Amino acid sequence: MNVLSSLNPATGDVLGEVVVTHTDKIQDSVDRARDAQLGWSALGLRGRADLLGQVAAIFSEREQTHARLMTQEQGKPLKESRAEAHGLGARLEEEITEIVDALQPDILEHGGNRSTIYHDPLGVVGAITPWNFPMSMPNWMVLPSLMAGNTVVLKPSEETPLCGQAYADVLNEVLPKDVLIVVHGADDQGKALVHSDVDMIAFTGSREVGKHIMREASGTLKRVVLELGGKDPMIVLEDADVESAAKFAALNSFRNCGQVCISTERIFVMDSIADEFESALTQLASALKVGDGLEGSDIGPMVNAQQREHVLTQIDDAVMAGATVLTGGDGTHKNFVTPAVITGVTEQMEIGTVETFGPVACVTRVASVDEAVARANNTRFGLGAVVFGGDEDRTESVARRLTAGMIGVNRSPGGVPGTPWVGARESGFGFHKSKEGHRQFTQTRVLTRPIR
Ligand code: NAD
Repeated sequence: MNVLSSLNPATGDVLGEVVVTHTDKIQDSVDRARDAQLGWSALGLRGRADLLGQVAAIFSEREQTHARLMTQEQGKPLKESRAEAHGLGARLEEEITEIVDALQPDILEHGGNRSTIYHDPLGVVGAITPWNFPMSMPNWMVLPSLMAGNTVVLKPSEETPLCGQAYADVLNEVLPKDVLIVVHGADDQGKALVHSDVDMIAFTGSREVGKHIMREASGTLKRVVLELGGKDPMIVLEDADVESAAKFAALNSFRNCGQVCISTERIFVMDSIADEFESALTQLASALKVGDGLEGSDIGPMVNAQQREHVLTQIDDAVMAGATVLTGGDGTHKNFVTPAVITGVTEQMEIGTVETFGPVACVTRVASVDEAVARANNTRFGLGAVVFGGDEDRTESVARRLTAGMIGVNRSPGGVPGTPWVGARESGFGFHKSKEGHRQFTQTRVLTRPIR
């Protein structure tokens, strides 16, 4: 029996283990999920909503346990894990209501005929998830899949199998057998799931793996929804409130040790305020407490040694190419990296174009708004973007020139509840949340008959 050990990235201790699913057995799991699908679908939207609604109380009850587990397995500070764990229970009812509304049939009439557009289940969904939000990412894909009447085979990240399992265990306290099945393992298990006869792959993870999945899924034209990486820009205009811009940059570059898809990775600051901005950001970064997330730190460890190495190498290369480290960037011990502010970053450096996914704020000084916009858009990615400025209309008009999928004006890029989570260009294919996002987990079907 092959087992996968889960390690605490702050200490290196073994937290627990899971049994790896043999790749030959993945199709068996899909078959079981398919056998369960008709019964699940037959409950109807209301029946499924009622059943899934019951898990809110279980998530709330286990909030503290889940938060600790997330910090121990993934490394994020306890306050961030608590917020993630809290959201699972607290937001569930609202999310279910949003999905129920999204999946109502639409009716159109014309020339004496009435067409009803139904949003039917697809069948079995394979969900493949990353480690950076180890319980909410599974929820983003599993909840709308199940609500639509699909059954699900979930493969959580090999870095956070215990969190993925804990998430599914909660749902499985109320779900009928085989409606949600967890398989464990790494890329081989992911590939086997993509090759199985699931009807859809819902994937969140890196761009490279997303492209691989899309290629592999094309053989049977499987539906894919891909939420991928980013290299998000932030523009700071000359009339911006420098203090709040620096605060936002510190929060959004260093949250979860920079391991967030919409982390601010490239900051374009107008020359006239660059000194002030850099000094405010440097001060904020150097005040952050680095350490084990269970011990009240602001910045936990990177998820593993490979990720830490990637970040430190990008910083070293940037310095060799002429960038200046204003603070941080030290690999102190184990998987820790102190939050870094780097200035003089250009697109000729790897750190200026390739996703860092680490605690690094890269500053580039620009002479004009046109230069800032052109450089912010000069990327194959397009997840989030942010503009800080004083005059709101002018700031918004700069924001409208950005090519990312989600853009924030004097705030983070994510929209209000009900809006899509959407990447442009190579940051995504399909999207989540919102009416349109929830409908991606369904088969649209049109029935037309004469009006009597
Ligand atoms: P990853 O792509 O390495 O792995 C993600 C999942 O895919 C894991 O479960 C992994 O086992 C599996 N996998 C790996 N190779 C596979 C293959 N060939 N076929 C099928 N499955 C395979 O990503 P990660 O390191 O876990 O997560 C970090 C990445 O996720 C970053 O790029 C980040 O930006 C992105 N992300 C994006 C969003 C978003 O909403 N757009 C959200 C969170 C994370």
